[in-house]
Amino acid sequence: MVHWQAPPELTDMPVPEPGPGEVLIKVAGAGVCHSDLHVMEWPEGTLPYALPFTLGHETAGWVHSFGPGARGAGLNEGDAVLVYGPWGCGLCPPCSRGAENYCRHAAEIGAAGGGLGRDGGMSEYMLVPSPRLLVPLGDLDPHTAAPLTDAALTPYHAIKRSLHRLVPGTTAVVIGAGGLGQAAVQLLKALSPAEVVAVDLDTAKLDLAAESGADHCVLAGDDAADRVRRLSGGLGAALVLDCVGADVTMATAAAAASVESDITVVGLAGGTLPVRFGAVPWEASVSMPYWGTRPELAEVIALAAAGKLHLPVKTYPLKEAGQVYGMLQEGKVPGRAVLLP
Ligand code: NAD
Ligand code: ZN
Repeated sequence: MVHWQAPPELTDMPVPEPGPGEVLIKVAGAGVCHSDLHVMEWPEGTLPYALPFTLGHETAGWVHSFGPGARGAGLNEGDAVLVYGPWGCGLCPPCSRGAENYCRHAAEIGAAGGGLGRDGGMSEYMLVPSPRLLVPLGDLDPHTAAPLTDAALTPYHAIKRSLHRLVPGTTAVVIGAGGLGQAAVQLLKALSPAEVVAVDLDTAKLDLAAESGADHCVLAGDDAADRVRRLSGGLGAALVLDCVGADVTMATAAAAASVESDITVVGLAGGTLPVRFGAVPWEASVSMPYWGTRPELAEVIALAAAGKLHLPVKTYPLKEAGQVYGMLQEGKVPGRAVLLP
């Protein structure tokens, strides 16, 4: 990212030297997230980031070298790792329990992490400020694993907090069957006995959601909430996960949710959901979770290693980043695109 509200540019960069405490990663692949499109379209001042920085907040690769003092137990050169994305202070109470997504010093720190204000993974090498931000990938292929660190971790965190509601006989709805949404469908099937309904504007995305395990697919539109209600025996859904976050999807979410449900919005399209009598069901909770924790990332990796999570990933050369972002903007990326340097 060189300018706000402009497409990113491809430039040559020197290979960074890891300083004290830092680890240099040789990048295998970096995921292309819809959040990058928001970063590119929002006006200057929306985000507290200094330009320029390299995009790529979903990164997998291998440990290349350690800066002074960074070598720790259990991590060696050549190890396959995922980069945990939200970089907090590492020391405050949320960071201490691995929830750097909710670091208390986020406002002072400014940049959210690599690819979000600091140099990220759309590059041959990436500097990571501490080995604590690396989670071993084991035998998973680093070329395609990058989306686990956001496209899967974000819905994992969002769904895990609602699992107590997803008892047998309940329904869960995923609105927006893109990168996050496909992961959400697979995670719901792996973690809960709920019937899973996918909602999207695009039938190709719905076909992919059916392959991901969705029990029912519903085309987005005015009647989508009614269809969910019918599919759930009139009750509505115990969890609606909105992976778009526009006015229209939040309205569908509220209309599809049951009494005592969770309406969980992870999409950042900037929509508004009125919370007032008649607009949301009795005792529905509305929340907007952000990303996930380091322990949860290890859990996501364990699920993938157990064969219970295989995100639909397509790889492209890094030099095609511009075209790939264009495809994502037009809704033409099925699942998740990963750029290979
Ligand atoms: P994506 O482009 O891969 O997927 C979006 C999907 O939504 C597409 O399949 C598209 O067809 C569908 N869609 C668009 N408008 C729709 C509508 N009106 N009704 C139904 N479906 C619709 O995007 P992604 O990378 O999965 O990201 C999804 C959203 O989540 C983005 O806003 C992104 O910024 C946000 N995000 C939030 C967090 C967080 O921590 N809260 C983390 C990552 C991404
Ligand atoms: Zn912190």
